[in-house]
Amino acid sequence: MELFEYTISQLHKQLKKRGISSLDITESLLKRIDQLDDSLHAYITTTPEGARKQARQADQRIERGEIGPLTGIPIAVKDNISILNTPTTCGSRILKDHIPPYDATVIKRLRREGAIFLGKTNMDEFAMGSSTENSFIGPTRNPWNRDYVAGGSSGGSATAVTAHLCTAALGSDTGGSIRQPASHCGVVGLKPTYGRVSRFGLVAFASSLDQIGPITKDVRDCATLLQAICGFDEKDSTSVNKSVPDYKANPDKDIKGLKVGKPKEYFIEGTDKEVIKTVNNALSTLGSQGAEIIDISLPHTEYAVATYYIIAPSEASSNLARYDGVRYGFRSKDTDDLESMYTMTRAQGFGPEVIRRIMLGTYALSKGYYDEFFKKASQVRTLIINDFKEAFSKCHVIITPVAPTPAFKIGEKIDDPLTMYLSDIFTLSPNLAGIPCMSIPYGMSSRGLPIGVQMLGNYFDESTLLQTALVLEKTSDISQYSPPLD
Ligand code: GLN
Repeated sequence: MELFEYTISQLHKQLKKRGISSLDITESLLKRIDQLDDSLHAYITTTPEGARKQARQADQRIERGEIGPLTGIPIAVKDNISILNTPTTCGSRILKDHIPPYDATVIKRLRREGAIFLGKTNMDEFAMGSSTENSFIGPTRNPWNRDYVAGGSSGGSATAVTAHLCTAALGSDTGGSIRQPASHCGVVGLKPTYGRVSRFGLVAFASSLDQIGPITKDVRDCATLLQAICGFDEKDSTSVNKSVPDYKANPDKDIKGLKVGKPKEYFIEGTDKEVIKTVNNALSTLGSQGAEIIDISLPHTEYAVATYYIIAPSEASSNLARYDGVRYGFRSKDTDDLESMYTMTRAQGFGPEVIRRIMLGTYALSKGYYDEFFKKASQVRTLIINDFKEAFSKCHVIITPVAPTPAFKIGEKIDDPLTMYLSDIFTLSPNLAGIPCMSIPYGMSSRGLPIGVQMLGNYFDESTLLQTALVLEKTSDISQYSPPLD
């Protein structure tokens, strides 16, 4: 096995024994990126020199006996998370030359632990999309089949983890952007409870929905990375001051007595048969391990797409007002006065999906339509929240599909935004409610594309998700497959 293939925990063990150095690991991954990333496009920017320097520093720390779980471990970071003096483009032309003068809080925490930053990963522009096709550098490819999308919007991070172009990665999730690419690429992804992880330094898309979370090769790594980025931050007013438990799941703990909800609204006509089969397999495994499967209902699920696609664009239209050519990145040259400088900068700097969302959001917030759209959507959001409150009075964890189909072909949905939006049906509600959720690889389609299972948990109960995921991971045969890369 090559160093680039190892998990965080495997590398940590070796580093601790001083069998290998962080620089060895970093070089192995950098070489791999050189070989494969021209065709996969997982990264927008790589920072090899910075990574080598950080690796040398990590090795010195380890030499002194100062080693934490992430010391010397190379991480990839979605390109909407700010890293000091490193381009942060958000997959957008408008931020092409934007270099933040500070670290996001999650980066600061990882830096303190001695993690290595390999670079910034590709994404849908401003995290708007489900395929990473809305990036100004072009789409990321799915390592299992390069004609297919990696999912999105954190497609670069998911591909980087899958193709071993990093040991683990950070993504962000506003309506599925960690879970859906993790599912399409066959890796583990977790969106924490809203408020669990600081959003300071994450470029805002829809502030009441956005969360940063880990994308990793296995459940144990997911817990390790989550542990490192969690916790209160006074720089984020929505960060919750609540103690962080130890997320390390106990591999020997059983799940007897665990109540697992199966919501009927998530097993619907139009969902791919292999997806349904995969989720049912997961449910029967949990049942056979002592969990009790309970039929539940989340009655307002059918309104999730409409609700999300009012709230998210509304918040985006406000958040993206700051990109006017004055303060950040790109400025159009085809202008002769201030007003045309604003409008031309925005017209040329944003791609079509971002423009569509700004228009949708501005409309939904405008006088005369606010009550009909934004206010109504906010009310329906409360109904969706109440559905989950009711459900979690009956069960500890809810199991559903992540997406209606495995990965689709590049180009298949990009000209049909409504179809693209509808494919988010299963991932949007947890963001609207703010609950934690996770995707874990569990099946393989007849076309050779991975299929994930989604788990939803109660507020701040990431631990139950990780514990349940560990049981599924142990019983899944997906590790016998690997993407055709070499
Ligand atoms: N696919 C959804 C959207 O396009 C979710 C994106 C996300 O989670 N960032 O908005």
